Formats: sequence, structure tokens, C-alpha cells
Amino acid sequence: MATTSFLYHTQALRGYLHLRTEYRGGAAYHHVELRSDQRRCRGCGAKGSDLTLEGRFERRFRALPVGLRRQFVVLHGHEQVCRRCGAKLREPIPFAEGKRRHLRAFERFVVDLCAIAPIKHVASLLGVSWTLVKEAFKRHLRRRLKKRSLKSVRLIAVDEFAIRKGHQYMTVVLDLESGQILHAAEGRSAESLIPFLRRLKAARAPLEAIAMDMWPAYVAAVREVFDDLDIVHDPYHVVAMANAAIDKTRRDMYRHLQGPERRVLKGSRFLLLKGGERLDGPGLVHLDRLQDLNQPLYQAYLLKEDLRRLWRMPSLKAGKRFLGAWIARSLATGLTHMVALAKTLRAHRHGLLAYFDHRISTGPLEGTNNKIKVLKRQAYGFRDIEYFKLRLAFIHESTPAFAG
Ligand SMILES: [Zn+2]
Repeated sequence: MATTSFLYHTQALRGYLHLRTEYRGGAAYHHVELRSDQRRCRGCGAKGSDLTLEGRFERRFRALPVGLRRQFVVLHGHEQVCRRCGAKLREPIPFAEGKRRHLRAFERFVVDLCAIAPIKHVASLLGVSWTLVKEAFKRHLRRRLKKRSLKSVRLIAVDEFAIRKGHQYMTVVLDLESGQILHAAEGRSAESLIPFLRRLKAARAPLEAIAMDMWPAYVAAVREVFDDLDIVHDPYHVVAMANAAIDKTRRDMYRHLQGPERRVLKGSRFLLLKGGERLDGPGLVHLDRLQDLNQPLYQAYLLKEDLRRLWRMPSLKAGKRFLGAWIARSLATGLTHMVALAKTLRAHRHGLLAYFDHRISTGPLEGTNNKIKVLKRQAYGFRDIEYFKLRLAFIHESTPAFAG
């Protein structure tokens, strides 16, 4: 039933003659040979009468299956001697890439299946190895990533993610407009970011601002490449710092208290870290007792709550005034950790106020964090760091989270 045109239409095998088909072990083997009018010299492109056939070779390729039935193409190839360039070379094989033992059509099918099923399942469905499927999928993602342009990138966010327990980090850059992860690199040093920033610069991206926490290495990286790019220190991390300051204040005090007072303080940690609008009746009573018990801690709490208003200020001018007053009030408390926080914010004043020019934050990147975690749980990701990064680059379009 297989014919030259059947193979042409179903396997995209163009320019080949069907010789015969064998059926063995539930699989079909289609023997083919290059049509003489299709012969070209691999060296110089000479054709037809310039070529004489000498040796023979045979190669077998996986072809598209029919249902669950495997199919192969068996190529009866020739060595060609070229009169024009003098080379003796094997005939070119346009339907497969390099040394690969499957058809291009088969590889496309693998990639299509990867969009709807985990690698493991694709491999078992097709009866090929997990590695073959993964490598095909990687080549596909690599090709697509290569085409991605940085030409219109305006607003980005950078942050670090813990990729293993302990202290192994990855630096990730998100395009805040397209939602694509543009860059991922091991570590969280300036070197994890600089090469990417240089690429942005080389692409003449109309970059306006970058959102980040106050990690000095990232600030240094930006300044290494761009003199005047706006750095926006985002709300998310600053509120986290304020919470840490309260936590430290609370722990300091706990050490100095005894008996019932200590008990009131003990249950207060989450109360103090919670937004005021989220407290219920008992929570508010508890807060009241804390206030009586300890003026300083309550003061720190109020300052933290108040700080959150900064990013709701209507204008740069209002923001400036608010931040200045907040820093002054925190310094005046004399509370070690609040004073330290105030000094840090004062040192990063410029980056905090840049928020009012761009209103961006690393929030969307934090949102991607969950998807990254899912990808991370698929442990193979780290055994093959390149694959993990490729998957990250397309994480914005991965609808279901496929293992493999
Ligand atoms: Zn030649």
C-alpha cells in the first residue's frame, strides 16, 4: 500500500522513490532511494551527469507512526564521486538532521506532542527514549528563544530565587509588559545579571526602569552597564524589611520580659506582621494589650503599617514628603531596628521615589514564583540546567504544568 506518493504526503519525503515495504515485528519498513534527478554534490552542489555513484550505504530512520504502529524509512544511499570538485561524499539527506536517526517530520511530531503531554508519556507513546524526546523539545525551544527580540523591552524586574536548599540562587529577569522571563542565570552576583544587561544595551532596547530589591550586587550590575537607568526599589521587599525589623524588635523585648507580660508578647508575632485591615475582634483586643504592655513595639507596628501608604501616594511630591516624614519619625523612636531601617530607606531614597515615575515592582515576578516552584519540583530541571532555563523562558505560555 505504501507508494512513493504515500511517503511524500505522509512523511514529507520529497524526491525519493519507494522501493518496497517490509513488515516485521509489528513495524513497517519503507525502503527508499534518492531519485537520480535529485542528486547533488554535498561539496559543490554539482548535479546529474557530474556525479557517479560508487559505494553504497544503508541508514534507518524513525518515521511518523500509524497509530501505535512504528514506521521506519530505510535509505539505500550512495557515495558520490563529483567530477567538478573531485570530492567523494555521501549523498545529502535532507529529511533528517545531521546524524539523527529520525525524520524531521518525526521530530516535529514529538514537539507537537510535548505541548500537550509530559515528556515521559510522549516517549512511551512513541516507543523512544526520554532523552530523545527531551532533546528534540530542547532544540525546538532553543530555536524559538533565538528568535526572541529584546528590541522593545521597556520595563523589567529582577529577583533571585532559591533553587536548592541552602544557598544556591538563580537570578531571574521578567519583562513586565510581555510577562516573559527574559533571562535566568545561576547565582545572584553582578555577573549573573551583567551579560544580560549588555545584550539589552546592544539591542538598543528602549529600557526605562528596572524593579528590584536593595541587593547591592544587582544595583552594581545596573550601574556597570547603564549610567542613568531608573532603579525602582519595590514595595514588596521594603514591607518585608519592615516586618523583619518588627520581628527583631519583638525578639529583643521578649528576652527582657517575664510572666504574663511575656505571654501577651508571645502570641503577637503574626498579629504584628498582619495588615491592620485584616485583624478581627480578638486580634484587636490583643493589639490593645500589646499597646499597654509595650509602647515601643506598638510604635514599630504603627510605623510599619503607615509605611505601606507610601506607594498609594498620588504623586512624587506627596511621596517625597511622606517618606521624609516617615524616616524622621522612625529615627525619633530610637528603636535600634527601626532606626536601622530608616537609615537604609534614606540611603535608597532615590530608588524608592523612582516608583512614582514608573509604578512598577517585582510583584509580577513574585507571582511567577509559584510556576517556577512547580517547574522546580520536577527534579530533572536541575540535572539539566539548560532545559530548566529554556522552560523558564516559556513559562508564561505553559498552561498546565507538565512534568518531564
Ligand atoms: Zn562537487
